[in-house]
Amino acid sequence: MQISKVQIEQVNKQIRALVNAGSFYGKKLAEAGFDSIETPEDFEKLPFSEKADLREAYPLGLMTAPEDQIVRIHSSSGTTGLPVIIPYTAKDVDDWGIMFKRCYEMAGITNRDRIQITPGYGLWTAGIGFQYGAEKLGAMVIPMGPGNTEKQLQMMMDMGSTVLCSTSSYALLLAEEIEKRGIKDKIKLKKGVIGSERWGEKMRKRIADSLGIELYDIYGLTEIYGPGIGINCPYETGMHYWDDYLYIEIIDPVTGKPVPDGEMGEVVITTLVKEGAPLIRYRTHDLSRIIPGECPCGSRFPRLDTIMGRSDDMMKIKGVNVFPSQIEEILAGFPEVSSEYQIRISHLDGKDTMRLYVETNGSVNFLELADRIAATVKGKIGFTPLVKVVEIGLLPRSEKKTKRVIDERYE
Ligand code: ZN
Repeated sequence: MQISKVQIEQVNKQIRALVNAGSFYGKKLAEAGFDSIETPEDFEKLPFSEKADLREAYPLGLMTAPEDQIVRIHSSSGTTGLPVIIPYTAKDVDDWGIMFKRCYEMAGITNRDRIQITPGYGLWTAGIGFQYGAEKLGAMVIPMGPGNTEKQLQMMMDMGSTVLCSTSSYALLLAEEIEKRGIKDKIKLKKGVIGSERWGEKMRKRIADSLGIELYDIYGLTEIYGPGIGINCPYETGMHYWDDYLYIEIIDPVTGKPVPDGEMGEVVITTLVKEGAPLIRYRTHDLSRIIPGECPCGSRFPRLDTIMGRSDDMMKIKGVNVFPSQIEEILAGFPEVSSEYQIRISHLDGKDTMRLYVETNGSVNFLELADRIAATVKGKIGFTPLVKVVEIGLLPRSEKKTKRVIDERYE
């Protein structure tokens, strides 16, 4: 999707603000000789920004608006090293709320809904983003935050929550608990707004079926406001994103060149009106594609496909590039296995080995199933994993993100 004239003007404003503030990226742009662009080709020459750079700007090097206008910071959950600190002005907070409200509306959620929010509140952007968007919508918020499943279920019943906001792994955990306790008839949930991790069709179906709800994928990252920059509509044809706030391009992660609409690559986001910490061409490392054409829902907002993985999740096994989503797709073809799996990669006797753990109920022959899965992986991806079939419920569930790939080669 080519950048429009209006968007180019907006980018120029962002560049000017960055340069004038002498912020981390302002200096980088000035050094690279950019003070404005005119054409889409110029835009493609602008340098990328990366999470690693953002860390270098710690603590407040990204701050681009004067400090008296900064009302809040958020921080991304860095698993290694320094976190990234993103300053927000009052307008940024408001814009984010407007985008989030649109997400709820796209999902058909209204001010008559009761929204139970289970992502965490605090430095990271999840809980508070869900909250502010819901308040802007005028819905009733039940601000639970994470964990304490007992209390979550009690409140869900007593408050008659109609919308669940959570990660996919926590939604699965709640769905399984509700089944186990036989309390489904006391639950009034109609919709789930699920964010912050990639999940497969199988898991989606399991959650939707066991809770009897519609599910919506919400997209976002702390560096770019937070969750709420895009969501799927009821037609489930990818996530509509707000191109009056963001410009999204898809690039080849190796060459850095933009790919045509419809082709898979890395999602790169440019903020168009951000004040506290504008970002130009930010490499998300999320893999997806722009969906060409119009959505049957009639929305004018363009669409990004479901996130298929992380460019840095790519595993190299016996010289073959593998994404967890490919394994997931293969497992989706086996109705005998659950939505949960775990991949362990190790280096044994000079060779890379992948062990793939999957779950099933006791009604099938474990060894025979393992052989069939191994043969399918060999046929579709090109190497043979060691498949271990275990009883359903044995693989870890998590309240946050479930870690599915464990690379023991680097531990
Ligand atoms: Zn649509």
